[in-house]
Amino acid sequence: MPRKYVIGIAVLLAAAGAFLPIGFALQMSWSRAVALEQQSLDNQAQRILQYTQGMLDQTVEVLHRLDAVPVVSPGLRMVAVRYGDYSALIEPGRFTQLTPTDGVQMALVLPGSGMLGSHNHPDLMLVAQALNGGKLDVEEDYLTAVARGDDITVVLLEPASEALSSLRRERNLWLPMGGMTALVMIGLVCWLSRRRLSLAGELATAVSRRELAVHYQPIIDLRSGRCVGAEALVRWQRPGGKQMRPDVFIAIAEENGILPRITAEVFRLVIRDMEELLAVDRGVHISVNLGASDMKDGEVLRVLERMLLHTSIEPRQIWLEATERGFMDVDTAGPVIAEARRLGHAVAIDDFGTGYSSLAYLQRLPLDSLKIDKTFVDAIGTDSATHKVTEHIIGMARSLNLLTVAEGIERQDQADYLKAREVDFGQGWLYGKPMPAAEFIKYYLRNVENTPPPQRMPGEGAPLAA
Ligand code: C2E
Ligand code: MG
Ligand code: MG
Repeated sequence: MPRKYVIGIAVLLAAAGAFLPIGFALQMSWSRAVALEQQSLDNQAQRILQYTQGMLDQTVEVLHRLDAVPVVSPGLRMVAVRYGDYSALIEPGRFTQLTPTDGVQMALVLPGSGMLGSHNHPDLMLVAQALNGGKLDVEEDYLTAVARGDDITVVLLEPASEALSSLRRERNLWLPMGGMTALVMIGLVCWLSRRRLSLAGELATAVSRRELAVHYQPIIDLRSGRCVGAEALVRWQRPGGKQMRPDVFIAIAEENGILPRITAEVFRLVIRDMEELLAVDRGVHISVNLGASDMKDGEVLRVLERMLLHTSIEPRQIWLEATERGFMDVDTAGPVIAEARRLGHAVAIDDFGTGYSSLAYLQRLPLDSLKIDKTFVDAIGTDSATHKVTEHIIGMARSLNLLTVAEGIERQDQADYLKAREVDFGQGWLYGKPMPAAEFIKYYLRNVENTPPPQRMPGEGAPLAA
């Protein structure tokens, strides 16, 4: 990814990282403030209802003692509660003695009869709407609470602006948290993008200063146990001593256009480290990984050709492997593979089974071998669904007449399984981890002493013609 995209994406992420937590905090304070205020309003309505109903009940009870049958009716100045021959007259103000908090409008209603009392001049339209249980026209502007008793209904209306004091309290609580999160997010984005930009720079410098190294992992002929070569795996020891995983920095190199330089550096190191061994033993090969960008124009092949020109290495001793991603565009990859094979190299598809390859697409590529990804080797001996795919992939390679190399063999039972299904080569910790050149050469010499030479090599097995 070019520098300006990294910066653009970082700015977008930082903006999202800042606005999302603060927006969330604001939204949260608002909805919590409203919920708290609503709860307080409901409680008040209940309390007022109990108080008023209690007062009515007491009055009726007094009248009870005097006669029978209650009728309640509102008067203009006094409320008359009549029971038989007696009436009790109550000042309306007595009913509204218990008032809600400041700014809240209250209506005490006798359903079907009229209003018993009010406080703070409630809007009668809104009271009627609230009583009918309908939505208020001005829903957003008012909070309402309705408490219904046997005789009386209490309606409270609170302008939403009154909820502001709770809003302020809630904001004081949530905004700092939102702000902190925003800061952390922005910091994280800055750190990651700077690291990404500077990593690309650091990597380019490391290539120029020749700080990359290559380790070699043995590739074994499964039938005889003979080491037939090694895969070259690049290593980058960063200043400070920390190794960075190649799949991570290779991805960064691809994004920043540094990969061709790394591939060329790996070629140079392979020639430096292995020329002697390859010249003495023509049965040995070194497999080099190419990236997706290497597969576009074949420039990498001309680089390799020039480098091999003055060495005693035969081109067939250098195998090339690229992941399915590198072969995705069949129209450009096809000619590059054909060119590599014309120059004498064997070409493998790496990490097979993890991408999109189909049989039809594989048939169009003039490959020599197929590397079964470690995932499928891991599945051997388990009853996972992947296990069945392993079998299928081996069959697929056979039907295309490709050599097969199984990656990531860690246990003997995996090796036995693959051998029984005639997989040609294996690679993995069971045989050896990637190791420095001198160590690999020792490994190789020891192995050769104890094992017969292998039977089948690329070119000899009639791979698919271009
Ligand atoms: P790959 O080409 O599929 O390489 C095999 C990876 O599996 C290597 O990881 C190897 O160390 C690891 N491996 C081998 N056997 C075992 C095993 O038994 N168990 C486990 N757990 N792992 C095993 P490594 O060296 O970290 O490389 C990772 C990837 O980075 C490679 O995958 C390859 O795609 C890429 N890479 C490495 N070197 C180069 C290079 O020079 N050029 C390019 N373009 N890519 C490279
Ligand atoms: Mg590989
Ligand atoms: Mg692989």
